[in-house]
Amino acid sequence: MKLSERGAIRSAIADGGFGLYPAGRLMDSIKAGLSGDDLRGDFDPSATAEKVLRAQGPGEPQARAVFEQDISLLVERLRTMNPEYDIDSVFDRMQAEAPALAKRYYGIASFDAPRPRVLEYFFEGINDMYKDGDWFAFNVNRAESAEMNVPIGTYFKRDQVSPGQPEFVAMHEVNHAMQDIAASPDGFHHYVPWFDEGLADSFGRMMLFRVTKDESLIAKVKRFRTEVEADDPRKAAYHYADQIASMMLIRGRLPFVKALMRARKRDPFSIDWSGLGDRIMAGIDPHVALINAYRGSKPEQFSKKFEREETAFRKESDLDAIDLRVLAMFLASERPACLSASEYRAALWLADEIARKPNPHRVVIDREKKDEEGSEITLGPILKSASIVTDEALKKDHSLEARIAIRDADVPEEHKAGVAELAAKYMITKRIVGEELVYQPYGGGLPYRLGTGEIRCTY
Ligand SMILES: [Zn+2]
Repeated sequence: MKLSERGAIRSAIADGGFGLYPAGRLMDSIKAGLSGDDLRGDFDPSATAEKVLRAQGPGEPQARAVFEQDISLLVERLRTMNPEYDIDSVFDRMQAEAPALAKRYYGIASFDAPRPRVLEYFFEGINDMYKDGDWFAFNVNRAESAEMNVPIGTYFKRDQVSPGQPEFVAMHEVNHAMQDIAASPDGFHHYVPWFDEGLADSFGRMMLFRVTKDESLIAKVKRFRTEVEADDPRKAAYHYADQIASMMLIRGRLPFVKALMRARKRDPFSIDWSGLGDRIMAGIDPHVALINAYRGSKPEQFSKKFEREETAFRKESDLDAIDLRVLAMFLASERPACLSASEYRAALWLADEIARKPNPHRVVIDREKKDEEGSEITLGPILKSASIVTDEALKKDHSLEARIAIRDADVPEEHKAGVAELAAKYMITKRIVGEELVYQPYGGGLPYRLGTGEIRCTY
């Protein structure tokens, strides 16, 4: 199938490596320069790249520099991206693997995965109600199928398709079909967002990784969540859900979750689902949280039956080390520290200075010697004489210590304010060496903060 422009751009963003956070907001800047073009048309590598280059970035020079860096990374990726995307092989794989996955994770003996369909509009010609819906995908379950007169199954919207995402979304949606069998009470639609969406996310990822063993794909799935969908108010509703469901799976394990699905199918109103999710999120053991969330009149009977069923499920398969790793990976999704453009650019400048070899900012101090005021004495002063103290001498004499200390006088005018702010935020340390004001980037661990992506640029 043909990719849309927005689908291609989102995929390029989800490959990571951008300075701005969340990088998904670049989409708005690009659209702002296109007077009404919302990028739903077909993707063409060079034409779309040209459009992206017209994006209206911020006017302030520091912010503009980060923005331009990100735009050029985006353009570079778009120019080599294939406009055709083979979504059928994604659906083939999901359908082929679904029966074994349904057995392993839900204990469903025989499962037939419906094949997802790609539509230009949701339910065009079937039901106008959803025609304007702009979701990536939509799953119609048994109850909804009867209500809306739409066939059961998963529907993708073509101009929303973004390579890397259907791989996961097909797994997420097929989990709803599995839950429909394992956890839905008969006769009505009982929807608990944290439980239904959270488990569809958690199981969906575990299943995707089990099937593909593709590390970069699963990392990309995470970036869709943390970079592309981070600002989408509808998708934001899923983030909390997947944290609760992951914590429930990690601490309660699969037999507990299966027994809980069984209990829900039997009597969904005997459990306070909000209270249960809230307690699990607070860190309480899921077993204890469940006892506290029981609202029926026979707590003893409920507990005994639950325990019996959980014990029986222990004879089936549980999560393994691979599953737990995928779950833990998605729990680690804190926002990075977002610095202003001038701070971020100053951090990039410092990182470049630190990387210079031989390094002009290297200074050696003697920890045992202090001057009359108690300040450290510099042996190998900044710049020219740094070579006076060799690495061999440093290894031999443990009172000597080499540091990177960048003189305030060496900081270019455009980065002076940013560097001072980084020091005020303890990203770097500021001190007096000899007579000079210097900044020590390793003091606040700045190079390591940049390297992990925990520092990004706000916009
Ligand atoms: Zn869902």
